[in-house]
Amino acid sequence: MSQDLSRDPSAGDTPAAAPAALSFSRLPLAPATLANLQQLGYEEMTPIQAASLPLALAGHDLIAQAKTGSGKTAAFSLALLSRLDARRLSPQALVLCPTRELAEQVTQEIRRLARAQENVKVLALCGGAPIRPQVASLEHGAHIVVGTPGRLLDHIERGSLALDTIGTLVLDEADRMLDMGFFEDIVAVARQCPKERQTLLFSATYPEGIEKLSRQFLREPKQVKLVERHAPLTIRQRWYEVREEERLHAVSLLLKAYRPASTIAFCNTKQQCRDLVDVLSAQGFAALALHGDLEQRERDQVLIQFANRSCSVLVATDVAARGLDIAQLEAVINVDVTPEPDVHVHRIGRTGRAGEEGWALNLASLDEMGRVGAIEQVQGRESEWHPLSELKAASDEPLLPPMVTLQILGGRKEKIRPGDVLGALTKDAGFAGAQIGKINVTDFHTYVAVERGIAKDVVRKLSAGTVKGKRVKVRFLDEVTQR
Ligand code: AMP
Repeated sequence: MSQDLSRDPSAGDTPAAAPAALSFSRLPLAPATLANLQQLGYEEMTPIQAASLPLALAGHDLIAQAKTGSGKTAAFSLALLSRLDARRLSPQALVLCPTRELAEQVTQEIRRLARAQENVKVLALCGGAPIRPQVASLEHGAHIVVGTPGRLLDHIERGSLALDTIGTLVLDEADRMLDMGFFEDIVAVARQCPKERQTLLFSATYPEGIEKLSRQFLREPKQVKLVERHAPLTIRQRWYEVREEERLHAVSLLLKAYRPASTIAFCNTKQQCRDLVDVLSAQGFAALALHGDLEQRERDQVLIQFANRSCSVLVATDVAARGLDIAQLEAVINVDVTPEPDVHVHRIGRTGRAGEEGWALNLASLDEMGRVGAIEQVQGRESEWHPLSELKAASDEPLLPPMVTLQILGGRKEKIRPGDVLGALTKDAGFAGAQIGKINVTDFHTYVAVERGIAKDVVRKLSAGTVKGKRVKVRFLDEVTQR
């Protein structure tokens, strides 16, 4: 089940009753808890709370899409607190977090929310802190344990933490935990919990691993998704009518006229993606395709180059782009109109984030006008049409990405860490930190983004010097990958 909040924030109640529907008092919570929420200044539920709390309090497993700042912590905390029996001093809820900072924030929020209940003990168990005091605290007993996967596993293996009394398991920021390579640790921890339990999974994005986790550990989960139907005002949308034979060329006209540093171009099919990358590459754009036929390693390389701003245009199908979270995106180009209006809103919602303005540029042929009409209906606004002939190249310079990706032979297996590479570049080779972009370390390779202007120099100096005391092989990644 998926809950659509923009249509009905109360998820089940009549829209006219919106304020009452957002009140915590409609939830089956104890009066003392409600009074405490009021004291905390939580007057009404946030959208993620309104969508997830009724389901979580009813005992369902959940997969909820939520970011930091959405009120997700209170959403799962109120659910786990409602199931707690403070008279039994054994761990009844376990919250897994990707980082120590998050675990500490979650611990504080649970403590605030638990003030209404007597004597609830919440314990944070994170890596980076000495283990002995944690063992001592565990000996005194706790109702709720919050921690990072590795450290929790340490405690389980030492026998200082037993999970056979856990009633609620929460995976917070599950996508980040997977990014940080915690999959196996999460699996090992979850296996220690009783089968009869509630599992709540919160994640901002849905990379493949999330589905794998939910298949293994959640039982008939309800999905809570906040469908954004109205594009934020920071997104400026324009439509261009094209004939079929000029569609791909029109994308390059848009790029030359608007000159966005980072663009995702959405196509409806893989073949369209391939054709568009061929057209753009032939014209000198740094464009890469992302679609389902890529091998994992190719996919990783494409994503690394796009995220570190050394590829200007990512040409993608909707399926391939699922779960992508790119912070800075100046434009989204809809090369084909999607038959599903919600998908359109989702596509363009990737630009114009965090108050930055973004362009949503759309191409449509006469055959696609029915789809455009459906999109207008969902968005509740008319399309702004512009003629292609209006597009003029804004500059004679080619549109080049600001960064270049270098590939170093050697990665995690050689125990290379981002700091080693940064050190080699800034301390040994004398480059400024600001000239160096993202550094991604994979098992066998390290990818480092550097400013275009210094790239050759970096290759020369790194090849002549060392990383972690060893000589390394360095090359331009775009010589390795075929465009
Ligand atoms: P989170 O997304 O869980 O990190 O929460 C963001 C912030 O919102 C935290 O500081 C919470 O204390 C606060 N918060 C959570 N729920 C509510 C609510 N219903 N009303 C007001 N503030 C809230």
